[in-house]
Amino acid sequence: MTKVLIIGAGHAGGTVAALLRQYGHEGEIVLAGEEPAPPYQRPPLSKAWLKGETDLEGLLLRPESFYAEHGIELRLGASATAINAAARTVIFADGAVESYDALILATGSTARKLTIPGAERPELLELRTLVDAERLKAALGPGRRLAIIGGGYVGLEAAASARALGSDAVVVERMDRVLARVASHTLSDFFTGYHRRHGVEILTSAEVTAVEDDGARLADGRLVEADAVLVGVGALACDQLALGAGLTCENGVVVDETARTSDPAIWAIGDATFRPVPTHAGRRHRLESVPNALEQAKQAAAAITGRAPPAAEVPWFWSDQYDVKLQIAGLPDGADRQVVRGDPDPAGDSPSFAVFHLQGDRVLCVEAVNAGPEFMAGRMMIGRGTPVDPEKLADPSVSMKAVAVG
Ligand code: FAD
Repeated sequence: MTKVLIIGAGHAGGTVAALLRQYGHEGEIVLAGEEPAPPYQRPPLSKAWLKGETDLEGLLLRPESFYAEHGIELRLGASATAINAAARTVIFADGAVESYDALILATGSTARKLTIPGAERPELLELRTLVDAERLKAALGPGRRLAIIGGGYVGLEAAASARALGSDAVVVERMDRVLARVASHTLSDFFTGYHRRHGVEILTSAEVTAVEDDGARLADGRLVEADAVLVGVGALACDQLALGAGLTCENGVVVDETARTSDPAIWAIGDATFRPVPTHAGRRHRLESVPNALEQAKQAAAAITGRAPPAAEVPWFWSDQYDVKLQIAGLPDGADRQVVRGDPDPAGDSPSFAVFHLQGDRVLCVEAVNAGPEFMAGRMMIGRGTPVDPEKLADPSVSMKAVAVG
């Protein structure tokens, strides 16, 4: 009977272990991860958990007892160091060797490090794991000032949570706008305004050249004073094991639509992968999101248990900041125009709007701010390739149902 070894006990690893049992896998399942905690959700680390609105139990994907109850051997604090693909074994840091029939790499991603003077300071904060989040939380509170290097989602969410905890927060972004790599100008402008409205200082086109005792030094000589500095400059795929085993890697472990790698006995899922996106012409992307981890967990579990592959999903993502729920579906590359529906003014009461990225009359991506119906309809239209009338789309008085052409 097939023995499945899963390396990485995060969102993707924890999910695929449970799905294998749900799909009828009767063989051995070993789920090995290097963190001390059972599989948990990371999104609340910068949001509800950081603000003290949920505890560790609330973070766990499943109660710790679930794994033993379902015959899943959960090994925590177990760091895999090499794969011997020919022998079908994995070697661990403590010298243990584990065999497999099917191997699933669910090693996630790791926080990108700065390479400037002071980057090695032990007091510098990052936000990837529960341990990181505990350190950040300890640095926050009334009268404290947090400097965040990087205006991406994690940095902005941390800024919003810092404000909720009574801290001052300043975001320092090298590009000329926050969320520059991942969102439209409209969305960047909205979040900049909304954060400023909530007392966050946002500095753009500001490059940090050193981290010092009193804060972050900028290229123009200014010192951004802070009691604590959080680095949030993106994440890199953890693909070292795959590279060492000779698997094809390119911005992550290259997989197909069934999450299989270039070795037929090895699958890879979650943040660590560079995967084709069928709803976007099959182009490869590295998607760092919970929905992606769940989708690929389904793909791998289906393939290993001999089930039909699950239907392709439109990629999506969310972020919570203050009272704003951002939901994004699809991918904008290839779009030739943007249509804004609603009012993106950050000074407005109860903001609600959506930015649609179109290629011709097809929606490729929707960025929805407190706009659930636009998100839901947009996601469906992306999946189905529904043609839309851009004029009607821009008019919030026309229902989302009525914007489809024909
Ligand atoms: P992870 O959950 O990172 O798990 C990978 C695990 O593998 C880790 O525990 C790691 O220690 C372990 N590992 C790595 N190498 C080894 C090894 N050699 N041996 C053993 N174990 C190993 N996504 C959203 O969709 N919405 C959000 O709002 C959102 N917010 C986020 C906020 C924060 C602060 C962070 C950090 C992420 C957020 N994400 C969000 C992203 C989301 O959490 C990830 O996409 C998701 O966790 C990916 O799951 P994964 O299993 O691939 O990786």
